[in-house]
Amino acid sequence: PKESKSVLITGGAGFIGSNFIPYFLDVNPNVNVVNLDKLTYAGNSDNLKEVEYHSRYNFILGDICDKVLVTRLFENYDISGVIHFAAESHVDNSISSPHDFIRTNIEGTFNLLEIARTYWNGKKDRFHHISTDEVFGSLEEEGYFKEDSKYAPNSPYSASKASADFLVRSYRHTYDMNVVTTNCSNNYGPKQHDEKLIPTIIRTAINGEEIPIYGKGNNIRDWLYVSDHCIGINKVFNQGIAGETYLLGGNNEKDNLTIAHKVCSILDRLKPLKKGKYASQIKFVQDRAGHDFRYAIDTSKIKKELDWEAKENFDRGLEKTVTYYLDKYTI
Ligand code: NAD
Repeated sequence: PKESKSVLITGGAGFIGSNFIPYFLDVNPNVNVVNLDKLTYAGNSDNLKEVEYHSRYNFILGDICDKVLVTRLFENYDISGVIHFAAESHVDNSISSPHDFIRTNIEGTFNLLEIARTYWNGKKDRFHHISTDEVFGSLEEEGYFKEDSKYAPNSPYSASKASADFLVRSYRHTYDMNVVTTNCSNNYGPKQHDEKLIPTIIRTAINGEEIPIYGKGNNIRDWLYVSDHCIGINKVFNQGIAGETYLLGGNNEKDNLTIAHKVCSILDRLKPLKKGKYASQIKFVQDRAGHDFRYAIDTSKIKKELDWEAKENFDRGLEKTVTYYLDKYTI
């Protein structure tokens, strides 16, 4: 058998990381995973129950900013790859309290890069940074983000992710490190934190509460099913070209009000109200400060170079998602 190697995954107890780890272990039979997660309010070890006793899975409770701990992990596990998910990820929190975003997203990324560079010492091991399309700012009705779009972050969250992207880029140009960055659109699917849009719609709907929708509900996002994102990350980690960035999206633009109506009509079918429809609970609330109008992604580069594209049908993906949260919220 091929020699095994250990990959450090950060933030693996969050939404995307916890969908990614079981898949990554499955498709890479010679890889050991070391999951470093601080378990902030956003992390949940229940998300990883299915791999808890997996022989190639190790969980480490800790902070990516902790220099001593991260150095020790590189040495003890002889880390030869990093997939970096850990971040403060909720835009609304970055507006009310930005400091944690600067610390984790910028300083944390710097700490990981610096320790990887020192430990690998010129070896061409891979550092994969997971980022967002929000670094490019907002689009009007027309146009798409591409790999060479101008950075124009508008929230403390996107500014902190943009800073991290630039640090990663600089470690390629300055130290010739084997880095790749993926910038992805909005993900949806199981294991997402309750604070995010789709879980909030489901939870408030079935609790008989108002379903809060920002502004007029016309902000547009390009929704990607989380498993498709995981497949893309694995491809880029294993086959992406060093120094490149890849944009991933679902070719699936929907405004928030459409999402709310779609979720409500699935609920009407799966858990009908005695009287009326869930959509009558939708309530428009004060818009988010500086709310970007539209994000949309041109995925032609990753399609052409790595033969990746989103596969999940939106209605089917949304139905799986609603079913997951219905189970979670009705126990
Ligand atoms: P999440 O908030 O669900 O999970 C983040 C995880 O990181 C949590 O488990 C948390 O405990 C951990 N963490 C936070 N600070 C840490 C620290 N200092 N040290 C160690 N662990 C820490 O986020 P997510 O939605 O899974 O997003 C993962 C990554 O993907 C982020 O980098 C995010 O910017 C990016 N991304 C997310 C989306 C999306 O739609 N969710 C889209 C594009 C990119």
